[in-house]
Amino acid sequence: MPILARMLPAPLTMEVRRGAIAELGSLLADSRVATSGRVAVAVGAGQGDRIASVIASTLGEAQVFRVPDGSVDAAVALGADLRKGAYEALVGIGGGKTIDATKYAASLAGIPMVAVATNLSHDGICSPVASLTHESGKGSFGVPMPLAIVVDLDFVHDAPPALVRSGVGDVLSNLSAIEDWQLGNAERGEPIDGLACSMARTAAEAVVGRSDSIESDAFLTVLAEALILSGMAMVIAGSSRPSSGGDHEILHAVDQLYPGTSNHGELAGIGTAFCFFLRRDAARLAQVVDCLRGHGLPVTPGDVGLSAEQFTAAVALAPSTRPGRYTILEHLRLSESEIRDRVEDYVRAVGR
Ligand SMILES: [Zn+2]
Repeated sequence: MPILARMLPAPLTMEVRRGAIAELGSLLADSRVATSGRVAVAVGAGQGDRIASVIASTLGEAQVFRVPDGSVDAAVALGADLRKGAYEALVGIGGGKTIDATKYAASLAGIPMVAVATNLSHDGICSPVASLTHESGKGSFGVPMPLAIVVDLDFVHDAPPALVRSGVGDVLSNLSAIEDWQLGNAERGEPIDGLACSMARTAAEAVVGRSDSIESDAFLTVLAEALILSGMAMVIAGSSRPSSGGDHEILHAVDQLYPGTSNHGELAGIGTAFCFFLRRDAARLAQVVDCLRGHGLPVTPGDVGLSAEQFTAAVALAPSTRPGRYTILEHLRLSESEIRDRVEDYVRAVGR
């Protein structure tokens, strides 16, 4: 009998709303994640105390672990602690670093993970990748997709606005990443997945034209859904291809050369705009730049304190951060002086 359809992995449940963390106990029981209630909870350093007090009434039995940071060491230590108890699941509650460390720890302990996001700074909420720091920088580790996804808008409203906004940059980068994937397909015969592209693109298109921003529940809901869809597109593709192209190569290079310059989503947004400039796609460039500006996100290297020279060095280094990934950067193979010219032209074109 022929296979009539492909089966897609997906979280059991997905909830984006206010007050979700306070009702976590019934949510976990309803979604069959933790029927006996033996769950471990991991919270981050920032909002850890507040979260612990909110969940005390609903997950009173749960053991709460503190995740000090988003490092491999923190995740491995948590994984070891989890193996000592017979937990049904690990619930990671917090921002990107906490979610990523929790995802990796759960995979080390061999138990499912529930992602409860209190921030919308990047598309790692639902992705099969944990981005963690270690001695020599930052690495991406493959992990199972979370079993359930919860976004609590009460906490998102209280998160640092700059971080919430930056999720917009990470979603927009899908548009650039898909162009790069299509380029790899056309130039190199790289297999491309139409379904993964459609999910990643639809996510970005839902965000790019909106006039409201992070003050609005309606916008935050769309942004959260877009970030989750981006993660699912990566699961379907089996790689980060639908959400990470030259835009992310540039951000990884900036992280490597000038650590602490800015956050993931802000740099992804700048990388996206610059890649559309390199493609000479004026319409998309204008759309992306308008969107970034509308949300108060940086557009030029100078907006995040980088000189044209520094950004040029990052663009030159970018292809080496993701060997084997064919993007507009590998396609154009610009020399350092050509990059420098393009960076200056870019700043002139989009600068105010
Ligand atoms: Zn990203």
